[in-house]
Amino acid sequence: MAATRDELFRVVRRFADAWKSDDLREELAGSLSCTEVAALTDLLRAGGEPEQARQWELAHAEADVTAGEECQFEG
Ligand SMILES: [Zn+2]
Repeated sequence: MAATRDELFRVVRRFADAWKSDDLREELAGSLSCTEVAALTDLLRAGGEPEQARQWELAHAEADVTAGEECQFEG
């Protein structure tokens, strides 16, 4: 059975709260793909953390060294 809207919102809030760590961002932002960062930042925005989402995008764009591939968050 799928979560109710209230449960879903609570889970998203909890996720956003857990992932807004500066240390976590610095450690992981460059290891995630653009697609993964997009999914993560969608969740953070849904959880009411738009500034954290932006920080993840910036940190990822800075650290994304995928050879020959354009990072979708650059520019
Ligand atoms: Zn990227």
